[in-house]
Amino acid sequence: MSYTEEVYERVVAQNPGEPEFHQAVKEVLDSLKVVIDRNEEKYRSLSILERLVEPERIISFRVPWVDDNGKVQINKGYRVQFNSAIGPYKGGLRFHPTVNQSILKFLGFEQVFKNSLTGLPIGGGKGGSNFDPKGKSDREVMAFCQSFMTELSKYIGADTDVPAGDIGVGGREIGYLFGQYKRVRDLYEGVLTGKGLTYGGSLIRTEATGYGVVYILNELMQSRNDSLEGKTVVVTGSGNVAIYAVQKATQLGAKVVAMCDSNGYIYDPNGIQLDVVKDIKEVKRGRIKEYADRVEGAVYTEGVGIWNIKCDVYLPCATQNELDVDGVKVLAANGCKYIVEGANMPTTREATDYAMANGIFFLPGKAANAGGVATSALEMSQNSQRLSWTSEEVDAKLHQIMKDIYAKIDDAAKRYDLKDNFVAGANIAGFEKVVDAMIAQGIV
Ligand code: NDP
Repeated sequence: MSYTEEVYERVVAQNPGEPEFHQAVKEVLDSLKVVIDRNEEKYRSLSILERLVEPERIISFRVPWVDDNGKVQINKGYRVQFNSAIGPYKGGLRFHPTVNQSILKFLGFEQVFKNSLTGLPIGGGKGGSNFDPKGKSDREVMAFCQSFMTELSKYIGADTDVPAGDIGVGGREIGYLFGQYKRVRDLYEGVLTGKGLTYGGSLIRTEATGYGVVYILNELMQSRNDSLEGKTVVVTGSGNVAIYAVQKATQLGAKVVAMCDSNGYIYDPNGIQLDVVKDIKEVKRGRIKEYADRVEGAVYTEGVGIWNIKCDVYLPCATQNELDVDGVKVLAANGCKYIVEGANMPTTREATDYAMANGIFFLPGKAANAGGVATSALEMSQNSQRLSWTSEEVDAKLHQIMKDIYAKIDDAAKRYDLKDNFVAGANIAGFEKVVDAMIAQGIV
């Protein structure tokens, strides 16, 4: 059995009931096999893979809070501090009823490689809670955030661990979390990113993940003498990543015809009117269904199946494992040429393999959605300098970072004779930097 297979079996045995974590580890280890094989003895003697798949620390805690009816509610809170070889832990907080240790470990593990790819000094972490902000009043969300941060504040700091937003954690939640951190630690520091502009936030952070997805897609297309001009695009989700991916793709000449939420999807053959989506999602916190009531010619379909809409480019920006092999088969049959993951691991392993084997260019989330965390790191730099850069400055830096990521993953794939396998390229390029730093720092 190869070293990578041995380590994968050990992960499954030692982390029972964590299928998402196993899935993420398997994908990475499979693509690292070519790298490990060239230096197996050295990596084995240092137990480098065993160290890489074991989080440095997992904090889990009770979050008590009082709802609007005066009843005490209890949620679970977590922070997975996965790897700090190249910088302080960095990664989002997710508030969603499906959150558990497996999901946060998969996200934390992915984050290690993603952060490495950005070229910035940030380690990998992830956290969150099974709290569901949907349908809660502002006061309930604040009560939850304050209780969550009262405990989390003991383990994070501007030079230790800097969380950000993710599913269910947007500007409102970051504001409440920051306020409570400041109150209990008496420190006004860049302990969170995604902050509001009046208290240390960075311009373009809100847009960064979605913009970054389209910037890296554009790099890939240009390298094939192709462009977004006139292309038909489907974007899944209608949250932070999805909205700004739609915005940038539209600016670059594409027509986005469909978006969704967890209830169903809308199809607008005339091109999605983003101001309507923003009003529904960012202002009214409503359902995507309302779009079809407001825009003539748009159709709403309840349930899954957005991949049935014919497109040239498919950007999954909702959640993990949203696109399976049946969906990808339909996309391929309908002539889709590019899949770029805005979400983390939205495509199942089987679906990814099918896409790559059937002429679809595939960019994995750990490269394609890294613009969010990269801009978070830019927010950290501005906080440390006590300065704010203009949106043009931040956007230019983001754009350059996405170009560099594309170049790195393309180069790593080519070095190992895996041309156009950007999944392997991203895992290999991310791994190389982290492992160099881990080896240099000794057995810690
Ligand atoms: P949001 O909470 O802002 O939006 C998530 C969107 O996905 C919502 O429209 C939600 O619908 C939809 N969704 C959730 N589950 C499903 C489902 N099962 N089927 C269809 N739609 C679904 O989150 P973000 O946009 O921030 O994050 C989206 C993805 O991008 C996640 O995987 C996240 O980890 C990743 N990501 C986010 C970054 C960021 O900067 N925000 C950075 C890098 C990655 P509903 O409202 O019905 O739940």
